[in-house]
Amino acid sequence: MDGKILVTGGAGYVGSHVAMALADAGLVPIILDDFSSSSRAVLPRLSALAGRTVEHVEADVRDTAALRKLFHDHPIAAVIHCAGLKGVGDGETRPLAFWDVNVGGTMALAEVMGEAGVARLVFSSSATVYGQPESLPVGEDAPLKPNGVYGRTKRAAEDFLRDLTRANPNWRIALLRYFNPAGAHPSARIGEAPLGRPDNLVPLLCRIAGGGFGELAIFGSDWPTEDGTGVRDYLHVQDLAEGHLAAIRFLATAPGATAFNLGMGRGWSVLEVVRAFEAACGRRIARSFVPRRPGDVACYYADPARAEALLAWRARRDLDAICADAWRWQLAGGGY
Ligand code: UDP
Repeated sequence: MDGKILVTGGAGYVGSHVAMALADAGLVPIILDDFSSSSRAVLPRLSALAGRTVEHVEADVRDTAALRKLFHDHPIAAVIHCAGLKGVGDGETRPLAFWDVNVGGTMALAEVMGEAGVARLVFSSSATVYGQPESLPVGEDAPLKPNGVYGRTKRAAEDFLRDLTRANPNWRIALLRYFNPAGAHPSARIGEAPLGRPDNLVPLLCRIAGGGFGELAIFGSDWPTEDGTGVRDYLHVQDLAEGHLAAIRFLATAPGATAFNLGMGRGWSVLEVVRAFEAACGRRIARSFVPRRPGDVACYYADPARAEALLAWRARRDLDAICADAWRWQLAGGGY
């Protein structure tokens, strides 16, 4: 592909693995990040892994002047938009910031892409747009009923992007709805680096097994699932990153906006994840059961058939690989 691929939020957890997957495929990523929730230290690591300098621009994705300069200075063929605020709990306490960055940031980016004549966009969405699923597995045509701020900002950004493609058929947009990304690059040089105590299960298991983070509080033992704990569709971040590459290729020929579930297509319970993680790290995870977390659902997992059919993509790495790579990253320090 001629030109560079802009990865907004490219220093973050998903974005850094996406940038790496692009470089591995012989494409040229350029990262935009304001490092508000990521580290500059990821950049030399990406360059070392890629065997060439991975370029970056430091700016906020809402900064249209900085975006204009970036699109002026670099030949951009397509954009993968990962920049945004995430976290179901965080969203509830910071609605203004979440709407501003996640929706306003997407609008600012689209404005400048439109001016620059760049029409291919892959958007980081989330399975939280579905809310409580009515049936399983969850297909892309399921109703979008997010039950929190974070999910509503993702749905609003999706709505906006669909409106763009309706008004102007030049746009080609893939809306990627991530299920539960976890794991790290097998080199253990890039991975998820949450500050403080992580909220998500796998990074929390890494920290607990590493010591100093106490025990795992399992949110609920009485869910209507086989072992009573919550069931989610975990997918390896490397598979997720490859999904973005497949989406970029898909957009070479596909008009309009298309939503894709990126998930394994099956679920694992919290206890199953804990057991797989214990096997990977060779340590026992101390845990106890506590009441359900507000807003949680019992079970959800993706129907990934559309991604398989249209993107020729499916998640190939299993839960054991997720746990092994997450633990290797933790052993290497688990951060930057
Ligand atoms: N979970 C848990 N204890 C924790 C964190 C998570 O029992 O400290 C459970 C949570 O209830 C859910 C699963 O682990 O069933 C995955 O939660 P996570 O926050 O990683 O992702 P979510 O699917 O909620 O976005």
